[in-house]
Amino acid sequence: MTAIDDLSGIDKAAFLSRDQHCISRKHISPNALKVLYRLSESGFAAFIVGGGVRDLLLGKHPKDFDVATDATPEEVRGLFKNARIIGRRFKIVHIRFGREIIEVTTFRAHHQATNEIAQSATRRQIQGLDSAHTSEGMILRDNVYGNIDEDAMRRDFTVNALYYTVDGFRVIDFCNGCSDLDNRLIRMIGDPEERYREDPVRMLRAIRFSAKLGFTIEAKTAAPIPRLAELLESISPARLFDETIKLLTCGHSERAFELAQETGLGAYLFTPTLEVFDTVDPKYWQLLKLALRNTDERLAIGKSVTPAFLFAALLWPVLQIRLQQSGSDDAQSPQTFHNIANDVIAEQLEFTAIPKRFSIGSKEIWEMQRRLERRNRRAIHSVYNHPRFRAGYDFLLLREEAGEDLQGLGQWWTDFQNGDTNRQNELIASIAPSGKRRRRRRRSKSSGNKQ
Ligand code: ATP
Ligand code: MG
Repeated sequence: MTAIDDLSGIDKAAFLSRDQHCISRKHISPNALKVLYRLSESGFAAFIVGGGVRDLLLGKHPKDFDVATDATPEEVRGLFKNARIIGRRFKIVHIRFGREIIEVTTFRAHHQATNEIAQSATRRQIQGLDSAHTSEGMILRDNVYGNIDEDAMRRDFTVNALYYTVDGFRVIDFCNGCSDLDNRLIRMIGDPEERYREDPVRMLRAIRFSAKLGFTIEAKTAAPIPRLAELLESISPARLFDETIKLLTCGHSERAFELAQETGLGAYLFTPTLEVFDTVDPKYWQLLKLALRNTDERLAIGKSVTPAFLFAALLWPVLQIRLQQSGSDDAQSPQTFHNIANDVIAEQLEFTAIPKRFSIGSKEIWEMQRRLERRNRRAIHSVYNHPRFRAGYDFLLLREEAGEDLQGLGQWWTDFQNGDTNRQNELIASIAPSGKRRRRRRRSKSSGNKQ
């Protein structure tokens, strides 16, 4: 008998043998395999679980590989030099291989199983670790190790609760995840409303997986979302920031954003943006749409995207409205512009805690728009050499593509980048003298005449 056949709870599972599924070891990270083999050789049961199995079964490249095991975190750490226990409430182990981290989690029980565990400790059921926290229901629930079937039942969606083991190369399915995968359905395990109330972020996960995989959210799983969307108010802005970024970098951000709008979840993430939806010029919306499409295209070819750019686009409609409301026009002082930009970021921070390095980046992209538009002859090279030039220029092109008439500005900057020194000098010489200066001179002359 192998380590997994000896597991309690395993009898409740359906098994797919090696020839019944398409997962091959060559598609799995060698480091994840190393972890599975080491645990297995040491007598523990170990599985790849979650997105790793789901994506492999779909023929996609998993983003990362998570491992679930019946070994305790201390036992796991004892087996790997490069392992570190993290988390206070529930310990997980990070095993580092260069830049790749394999996350190893000990089977956890769902809250309903908590009492059963307390009453009948089986081979590897171990009570909560942090006794200071175990008296509160919510925390205790998360804090208890369990059997593999309990571990499956506390996961969110059936397609995320599939396990793969190198012990017989089997896929193990406790909740009909394989059939939902075939039918392209996101289905909550257990009662959807109860599971959303336990953790409202699961609503965001539902729309993310639906967008990312092109799956339908099963009717009972989808139904409570609009009604429960407001539960997101209880989630910390830091976690909402993480989830927002995951949503917008899932590779199908246009669809994810649409789903967020349709379900009402967006009102708790993109609040300032959606509030100006009806009032703002459609071209600013179009910019956001194009930015999301552009993000998806970049990710598809393995390019990086920065949250600074995403938030610059997301809040662009809000910035435009606030600029209008302030009564200032294009000629407003850099300080006024800076203050309005700060206020717009501050509005968003109430919902998603954008780390400073990104919010500063968003503001720089906005400020770069002004500098790219002004084309102050003497400052052209310093604009060009600014670390945010590239992002600012990309943003400028999107604005034009979205329908803003910037009188060929994008082309001018494209030519400038492509030109040699002579061509660059020609381009600089072709710029009309700065409007600001001329205006100032004219103004002082006319005011002189009046006196
Ligand atoms: P991704 O491709 O985005 O990594 P994933 O399914 O692997 O998708 P993770 O956030 O990496 O998602 O989580 C790993 C697994 O942990 C999930 O597949 C799911 O089984 C479980 N999980 C994560 N978050 C939750 C949650 N909020 N509630 C229940 N189970 C969760
Ligand atoms: Mg994952």
